[in-house]
Amino acid sequence: MKVLVTGGLGFIGSETVIALYKNGHEPVIVDNLSNSKIEVLDNIEKVSGKRPTFYKVDCCDYEGFKKVFEKEGKMDAVIHFAGLKAVGESTKKPVEYYTNNLLSSLVLVRLMKEFGMKNIIFSSSATVYGVPERVPLVETDPVGHATNPYGETKIMIERILQDAAKADSSLNVCLLRYFNPIGADPSGLLGEDPNGIPNNIMPYISQVAAGKLKTLHVFGNDYPTPDGTGVRDYIHVVDLAEGHVAALKKLATNPGVVIYNLGTGKGTSVFELIAAFEKATGIKIPYVIDPRRPGDVAENYANADKAFEELGWKAKLNVEDACRDSYRFQTTTASK
Ligand code: NAD
Ligand code: UDP
Repeated sequence: MKVLVTGGLGFIGSETVIALYKNGHEPVIVDNLSNSKIEVLDNIEKVSGKRPTFYKVDCCDYEGFKKVFEKEGKMDAVIHFAGLKAVGESTKKPVEYYTNNLLSSLVLVRLMKEFGMKNIIFSSSATVYGVPERVPLVETDPVGHATNPYGETKIMIERILQDAAKADSSLNVCLLRYFNPIGADPSGLLGEDPNGIPNNIMPYISQVAAGKLKTLHVFGNDYPTPDGTGVRDYIHVVDLAEGHVAALKKLATNPGVVIYNLGTGKGTSVFELIAAFEKATGIKIPYVIDPRRPGDVAENYANADKAFEELGWKAKLNVEDACRDSYRFQTTTASK
């Protein structure tokens, strides 16, 4: 399939481009480089041996984006990664988040309609479930109480796509709700390289290990979890990327709207993650215990059975693999 990949130079998008090539598809990337670097394109080529067509275009720019559709002709599907994703930042810049995430999606849906493109995979998030009433989370659990503007944009875009599919029965929509993506391409060439001090734990630990940061701050050890630290479902980005390839196959069967959790189904605590990192790299991670981070929940992990039953997809790599790959990326390619 010829697949349009918005945000294809980002962390998850670039790894998905690798998976698309591996599975015989042809990716076309659109990215405005707001949170990625053009060098990623070279690294995609180094890993896959192929250089994807790339357009530096903002998905909110209808005219610019339309030119991509005109130039590329028939494309079979779009995977929509483009968006702003920092939870904390979204509470400080809500209007920017609503504008970028909603407008880019609306422009995309409009162009899909104009050019007769019928298949879309959307990068949603476990954040749409809000504060979980129980774990593991299943796809039928209630949606609609996100704790921040970023999460609200995911809920709204899910709804927009569902309504669009209701009005046009030939439209196929796959909502993929990611849990906690970590890891990097095993080559060390593609990964997550956040600007400034990382908000997420994996890049933070990697930077501590590489000597860029001094000490990990563990946010709370008084949660009602086995060791008192927060539990999450960490999924290797290579597995996540394969999930998109499986979803494309599903879209080809004209399923209408389908929703899948992409997680491992297994919870890992902060202390377990630190131990896995130390085991994988042999590097000791110094840490201090800080108070709980506002808005964090004790436990969040997926029931990932539906993706296995309907897509034949499940995570194969473990947190140790992810720690090793993140560290490799941190020490070879990430900004020093
Ligand atoms: P990322 O920031 O690395 O990638 C997003 C890419 O989109 C970047 O390259 C950025 O330059 C581009 N982009 C942003 N706005 C754009 C626009 N208007 N037009 C064109 N390009 C634009 O993020 P990621 O971690 O790869 O996440 C990809 C998607 O998955 C996002 O939608 C994110 O919300 C979602 N998601 C991520 C996580 C996570 O923890 N990483 C979890 C759940 C969902
Ligand atoms: N966390 C931490 N220190 C950090 C960043 C995160 O202890 O510097 C904890 C956080 O409280 C949560 C887990 O690590 O329990 C995962 O946080 P992250 O921000 O990576 O993802 P989230 O699940 O919040 O989206």
